[in-house]
Amino acid sequence: MSALAAIHPSPEPLAAATARENVTRATFENNKLDKRLCREVGKAIVDYNMIEQGDRVMVCLSGGKDSYTMLDILLKLQARAPIDFEIIAVNLDQKQPGFPEDVLPAYLKQKGVKFHIEEQDTYSIVMDKIPQGKTLCSLCSRLRRGILYRVADELKCTKIALGHHRDDMLQTLFLNMFFGGKLKGMPPKLQSDDGRHIVIRPLAYVDERDIVRYSEWQQHPIIPCNLCGSQENLQRKQVGNMLKEWQRKFPGRLDNMLHALQNVVPSHLMDAKLHDFKSLKANGIATPDGDKGFDHESFDSTDEACTSPAGEDAAAQVIRFV
Ligand code: SF4
Repeated sequence: MSALAAIHPSPEPLAAATARENVTRATFENNKLDKRLCREVGKAIVDYNMIEQGDRVMVCLSGGKDSYTMLDILLKLQARAPIDFEIIAVNLDQKQPGFPEDVLPAYLKQKGVKFHIEEQDTYSIVMDKIPQGKTLCSLCSRLRRGILYRVADELKCTKIALGHHRDDMLQTLFLNMFFGGKLKGMPPKLQSDDGRHIVIRPLAYVDERDIVRYSEWQQHPIIPCNLCGSQENLQRKQVGNMLKEWQRKFPGRLDNMLHALQNVVPSHLMDAKLHDFKSLKANGIATPDGDKGFDHESFDSTDEACTSPAGEDAAAQVIRFV
């Protein structure tokens, strides 16, 4: 190599080095993301005892980024968990026009996942029953729910896993406050309304932005969710935008709100069914962290970011689970 070439290396090797560096950085970031998702899903499973020894988990797969991500992470955790549980992916083909019915079976076969595709033409029923211009979603989701419960019975599944994530749960909290007059969110684990199934939401702690990045990285074959032609719920969209704006301006705020949902103080709300305000009497015992009564609480701006919600014990258990 000439002295000149040594001082000014040709652009090709430099470009190749930069490309290699970018690939290394992307791999590092993706591995971090993968670990974070496994940790958060594992923690939610442990915190709420979502999955137990011998469970047969029906993973509802819509073909959207959330359900693909949930399935991937559950499969990874299944391989490392100290307990045995089964996973069956279930998709409901609602016969919406243009639904690409080959996509999910091909994807699941290639991944080696047990699956079931349930074909039910709820699309025609909804179009038939709901007058034009009215929202289709409430009847559609009621029909879908009933079908999925029946399929869970037929497949002898003990848990039904849905792909709602942290941001869905917070959106629901605000929607219920703004439009429903209730302080009510979306639980990570619940008994179904027919009283016969346990529904779990393993992505309860997961930030939607992480799901978007993971799904892009994995190149999931996304099936669009607007095939039915229904408009996205406007109020949910507005609340979603409000949360995104907060997240942009105040990093950590959404995590803090999720933390708040796990740290409820009924005596400092106003629901007399949860706290017996009427018979409250002074008992002469001081409570150091009790209400000062006269002062508004003050917060430091650094309070915005918080630590993980369920503390050391749960964290230790998660390490075992993941
Ligand atoms: S968006 Fe379409 S598929 Fe989804 S619940 Fe509404 S009507 Fe059903």
